[in-house]
Amino acid sequence: MAKVLDSKIPAGPVPEKWKEYKAHQRLVNPKNKLKLDVIVVGTGLAGASAAASLAEMGFNVYNFCIQDSPRRAHSIAAQGGINAAKNYQNDGDSVYRLFYDTVKGGDYRAREANVYRLAEVSNNIIDQCVAQGVPFAREYGGMLANRSFGGAQVSRTFYAKGQTGQQLLLGAYSSLSKEVQRGKVKLFTRYEMEDVVIIDGRARGIIAKNLVTGKLERFSANAVVIATGGYGNAYFLSTNAMGCNCTAAIQCYRKGAMMANPSYVQIHPTCIPVHGDKQSKLTLMSESLRNDGRIWVPKKLEDAKALQAGTKQGYEIPEEDRDYYLERRYPAFGNLVPRDVASRAAKERCDKGFGVNNTGLAVFLDFSESIQRLGIDEIRQRYGNLFDMYEEITDVNPGEKACTRNGVDYYYPMMIFPAIHYTMGGVWVDYELQTTIPGLFAIGECNFSDHGANRLGASALMQGLADGYFVLPYTIQNYLADQAIWPRLSTDMPEFEATEKAVEAEIDRLMNIKGKRSVDSIHKELGHIMWEHVGMGRTKEGLEEGLKLLKALRKEFDTNLFIPGSKEGLNVELDKAIHLRDFILMGELVAYDALHREESCGGHFREEHQTEEGEAKRDDENFFYVGCWDYQGSDDKAPELIKEPLNYEIIKVQQRNYKN
Ligand SMILES: Cc1cc2nc3c(=O)[nH]c(=O)nc-3n(C[C@H](O)[C@H](O)[C@H](O)COP(=O)(O)OP(=O)(O)OC[C@H]3O[C@@H](n4cnc5c(N)ncnc54)[C@H](O)[C@@H]3O)c2cc1C
Repeated sequence: MAKVLDSKIPAGPVPEKWKEYKAHQRLVNPKNKLKLDVIVVGTGLAGASAAASLAEMGFNVYNFCIQDSPRRAHSIAAQGGINAAKNYQNDGDSVYRLFYDTVKGGDYRAREANVYRLAEVSNNIIDQCVAQGVPFAREYGGMLANRSFGGAQVSRTFYAKGQTGQQLLLGAYSSLSKEVQRGKVKLFTRYEMEDVVIIDGRARGIIAKNLVTGKLERFSANAVVIATGGYGNAYFLSTNAMGCNCTAAIQCYRKGAMMANPSYVQIHPTCIPVHGDKQSKLTLMSESLRNDGRIWVPKKLEDAKALQAGTKQGYEIPEEDRDYYLERRYPAFGNLVPRDVASRAAKERCDKGFGVNNTGLAVFLDFSESIQRLGIDEIRQRYGNLFDMYEEITDVNPGEKACTRNGVDYYYPMMIFPAIHYTMGGVWVDYELQTTIPGLFAIGECNFSDHGANRLGASALMQGLADGYFVLPYTIQNYLADQAIWPRLSTDMPEFEATEKAVEAEIDRLMNIKGKRSVDSIHKELGHIMWEHVGMGRTKEGLEEGLKLLKALRKEFDTNLFIPGSKEGLNVELDKAIHLRDFILMGELVAYDALHREESCGGHFREEHQTEEGEAKRDDENFFYVGCWDYQGSDDKAPELIKEPLNYEIIKVQQRNYKN
């Protein structure tokens, strides 16, 4: 019989659910907290905030990361900002509106109750971070400043220049450091979780590899929390940090944690275009640039051809020959439509031949109008570090004047193109952020929770910090309440022994393949398959072909991989091989999910299911559910689909409209 998922959404009206939950959930008394150990894997914004909060509450925390410092978690890369419903601009914002925008932005595929809670705690996050000293941008009078992000008609994004993630992570890190100093958090840097240990059906510990010595070590606890980030690097080229991986999440999946909505992958519209096949990383140009930058391509095909041939420059094309296609198609939101909509619109123009770089795969992002209006100093103050980053990579300065025509100054436009950026899918969790394995929790980008089929800009930091500072510290107590009566589990137990042996055997298997291909060459091939067949535009035939290719690639990995060196000591190639093994399985999950979902929604675009105007066409009658995938005991077997039906109580499900 198919498994049934219990999302544990509390009863009562949506706006009251979280308050009700907090009023009635079980608590752990202060003395008992001292007896309870929690493993938190990850020190990004989700992991660091959870580890610091749990330790401050009295729990003993073991916190792991693969980097040499918690401060190097991928969260540090976040540029543009973090959302909150403070309504400082007095522009009509509210908790309800942030909730509504997030559900609508996610194309009505998120859980209402989770999203309402997220909007509700968003304001607490800002207060918490300000108290930690996070230097958010301020207005002249001292109020915190805001800017706009896609999918919203209000300005609710708090930011610290283009370094918001870095500043927030420093705040979380300072709280974490305090707890490390107090002895409540034991920090394990350069350790990688390789497996979760299950005893009597509950998560009771992990096996981690010391990445410097190569040794496997056992850790036991009363609960395990993974905060290990997203799986964007399954596409090889992405805006994610090179170390981002989904090994912990996939290993939990192999042990019984279901994977939800894996096909919901976000393709960000404003990245620096790919410029060759030697590249291993793509660079994001923050969405905040769409506040003041205007996106366009030429109206005339001959202009596009001249741009592609390099015989014409963007600034030479007169105003009347420019097609500001987002403003044309979506007058109400213009350049600030959500990411999925903006990405598809760019692809549509490039597919029609209007691309502006030598590959024909780029559109312009132009600041001429805003520099005329606000002056270069103001624009540099807002985006200076992003302009510098763009110039360092492309040798073009978007703040430099290119020419003056009819009294109007024209500046060098940026070139941008969509790229893989974020994963809305992830480990399935209930309202308490607990996975289908009791005692195993998942927070931040590695869970599937709050963004539906498309995440709005500046909402990932909000979700990660909401999970870590304000949600998990309550919900985990409901699980831990009766755990204090059990003695600490010894890591000599047979379950620890068996799990460690299995990890060791798997490492030996990989080392002994002794084939001819490097990890990177297979990873690159994986990326090509994913982008071509499971990328921005998906079809039944393409996905079926993609699945075949992925299975063949797994075979190639299993028989022709070459890892230099030995398993003892530091071996980066071995670590990358472990990640790649899991990216391939994750890629298959993305393809299975995309194939079964015979509709288009948010970041999942099935070309067979689009409106006459080329917009995503949902099928609410048949697909109004979370698609959860259950492992069937072997990587070779197809996973089983389990559905969690969605149930909306206050939002009316309708066709998304950003036109009026
Ligand atoms: C370039 C860029 C800019 C962005 N800008 C914004 C923005 O402006 N606003 C916004 O809201 N969002 C933004 N995002 C998204 C946002 O940064 C991420 O979604 C978010 O930071 C993820 O946080 P996290 O804590 O879940 O995971 P991460 O920050 O990815 O942290 C993962 C942690 O897990 C650890 N880890 C991973 N695997 C293991 C393992 N097996 N064992 C042990 N440890 C492990 C890592 O060491 C790390 O500490 C941006 C993303 C990118 C790529």
